[in-house]
Amino acid sequence: MPGFELFGDLERKEVNDVLDNGVLMRYGFDGMRNGHWKAKELEHELANTFNSHHVQLVSSGTAAVSVALASAGVGAGDEVIMPTFTFVASFEAIMMLGAIPVLVDIDDTLTLDPEAVKAAITPNTKAVMVVQMCGSMGDLNALQNICKQHKLLLIEDACQAIGGTYEGKPLGSIGDLGCFSFDFVKTITCGEGGAVITNNEEYYINADHYSDHGHDHIGNDRGAETHPFLGYNFRISELHAAVGLAQVRRLPEFIAIQKKHYTILRDAVASLPEVTFRRVPKGGEESYAFLNFFMPNLEIARKVVENFKTNGIDVCWNYFDNNWHYVKEWNHLKNQKSLFPLSSEVKQGLERIKNTSFDQSDHFIGRNISCLIKMSWTEEEVILRASKMVDAIKAAL
Ligand SMILES: *Cc1c(COP(=O)(O)O)cnc(C)c1O
Repeated sequence: MPGFELFGDLERKEVNDVLDNGVLMRYGFDGMRNGHWKAKELEHELANTFNSHHVQLVSSGTAAVSVALASAGVGAGDEVIMPTFTFVASFEAIMMLGAIPVLVDIDDTLTLDPEAVKAAITPNTKAVMVVQMCGSMGDLNALQNICKQHKLLLIEDACQAIGGTYEGKPLGSIGDLGCFSFDFVKTITCGEGGAVITNNEEYYINADHYSDHGHDHIGNDRGAETHPFLGYNFRISELHAAVGLAQVRRLPEFIAIQKKHYTILRDAVASLPEVTFRRVPKGGEESYAFLNFFMPNLEIARKVVENFKTNGIDVCWNYFDNNWHYVKEWNHLKNQKSLFPLSSEVKQGLERIKNTSFDQSDHFIGRNISCLIKMSWTEEEVILRASKMVDAIKAAL
């Protein structure tokens, strides 16, 4: 997955454009820029890539999720349904707005179970956030239908699935708003950065203003701009955007490499009858950023990961005990370890998470093994890795 593996001359050239004129900020300073508008160019490029009307770059993927929710009016006391398996950013982005994260089970797609989503809807529910984890996606038609029926927003966190598609549409472009991260370990990197995409003009204008202190961005005198509403600073810098601009142009090349490596590993592991694969919804195509498969039980899955380690097979994980990605170890969240006071609604919401058992999620995450697909491997290395993986799995059975 990591775009940093293939950092080179193209990235350097874009960064040097920015260094040559010294305008490191994305807004203003028109006269000094020598025509370089890297953030704007990257937004344009991303709009084409995602077949989406509007793109707002921001400072991180976490900021993207928070800005997306804020732009659609989600805030204090609103409930946002999110999965038990994701990155901590999901609840951070929700709580930053004073909204309440409502955690629900995942299914064999490793993303939101539509039935669990339905069961979690209350009069306070405002949005459903599907997190397209590990290069694939949820049952988007089912989720979209639920959202339509209950008049809820569908927010797509596609941070780990850039380049994947569903019924021919890019992941991220299907919900009301989509979110991407360009942090250092994502398929496309800016170093740090993120993007909100949407076809809704009002949400876009909100995101544009909100991510820059509420500036209306009308005219070319920044000091004279008005503030139609309150905002914060989630801006990306020109230096970061320049790196991303070189990277996004290489996305098709990156996805093709991931697919090639993924396919070699998958075909090898598929020869073992005990191995089953994560379900990709009908009409979906993965981004091939990860290969995910299930072992018969948690004990065997743990043994497989151990055997992988002793045989030099890195970047493969069982996320059951992972404290970044799975609810079981999110003790800071469950124990409400906040530096500042939380509202009583948020506290009650977190209390509920502490007192809920997520057996269905445990069933899938406990048995899952998730292997990152690197782009810098040679084909020989991938073939060798595949046969080592097969041997290590056999030894654990
Ligand atoms: C990386 C990631 C984020 C957050 O991105 P940052 O840019 O690191 O803030 C959010 N959601 C998911 C699923 C991610 O993998």
